[in-house]
Amino acid sequence: MKSEQATPFKREMYELGKTYERLARQAGVEIRLNTEVTPAYAAKENPQALIIAAGSRPLVPPIKGLDGDNVIIVNQYYKEKAKVGNHVIVFGGGLAGCECAIHLGQEGKEVELIEMRPALAPDANIRHRPLLLAQIEKYVHVHTQYKGLEVTPEGVLCQDPQGQRILVPGDTVICALGQRSRTDVVEALRDSAPFVRVIGDAAKVSTITNAVYWGYWAALDI
Ligand SMILES: Cc1cc2nc3c(=O)[nH]c(=O)nc-3n(C[C@H](O)[C@H](O)[C@H](O)COP(=O)(O)OP(=O)(O)OC[C@H]3O[C@@H](n4cnc5c(N)ncnc54)[C@H](O)[C@@H]3O)c2cc1C
Repeated sequence: MKSEQATPFKREMYELGKTYERLARQAGVEIRLNTEVTPAYAAKENPQALIIAAGSRPLVPPIKGLDGDNVIIVNQYYKEKAKVGNHVIVFGGGLAGCECAIHLGQEGKEVELIEMRPALAPDANIRHRPLLLAQIEKYVHVHTQYKGLEVTPEGVLCQDPQGQRILVPGDTVICALGQRSRTDVVEALRDSAPFVRVIGDAAKVSTITNAVYWGYWAALDI
C-alpha cells in the first residue's frame, strides 16, 4: 500500500496501512521491521502458528527494452515520480495501470494506455469500473488490442489489431503488467510451523479487502 502515497485520490488507501499498524500496536502486536523471515529465522522462533502474508512482486516479462532507463515499474512510481516526462505510456490496462494513467492525466501529462485485451480493467469492481472508465475517457489516449513488443527510447513498439507494427510514442513508460505471488517465499516456509496458512497476494494476487478477510479467518482458525 506504500505505492498509493503519490496518488492523491488513493491517499486514504495509503493511510489505511498506517491505521492497521496503529491498531496492531494497540492490540499488543510486536512489529519487527527490516526483518526477513527465512526458514532459519522461523526455526529459531519456533512458532506454533505461522501466517504467511508475503505478498507479490511486479510481473516484468522479458520484453526487449523493459529494463531501460525510461521505464518505471508502477509499484515504484511513488519513489521515481520526478523521472516521469510529459508524454507517458502506461503499459498494461489493468486496475493499477488505469488508475496510474488517470492520475498522470490529472497531473497534466499526455498519457497513452496500451492494453492487449479488448477491455480495460475487466476485473474491477462492478460499481467502480464505470467511474474509472469515465475518467479514462477524460484524461487518457487508449490503445486496446495493442500488444507491446519492444520498449525503445521513443516509445513502445506494438502490434495493432490489424497485425501492423506501430510505435506508440512517449518519453516515459510505466510498466503495469500485473503482479505475481511470492511463491518462492511461501514454499520455503510452508513446513515451518504446526499451523501454517497463506493469505493475501501470497496465496492469490487479489485486493486489500481479500487480504484482510483471509487474515481474519486464518487468525480465527488458529
Ligand atoms: C500499483 C498497485 C495498486 C493497487 N491498488 C489497489 C486498490 O486500489 N485496491 C485494492 O484493493 N488493491 C490494490 N492493489 C492490490 C493490493 O495492494 C494487494 O492486494 C494487497 O496489498 C495484498 O496485501 P498482502 O498483505 O497480501 O501483501 P503486500 O501488501 O504485498 O505485503 C506483503 C509484505 O510482506 C513483505 N515480505 C515479503 N517476504 C517477506 C519475508 N520473507 N519476510 C518478511 N516480510 C516479507 C513484503 O516486503 C511486503 O511488505 C494494488 C496493487 C498494486 C501493485
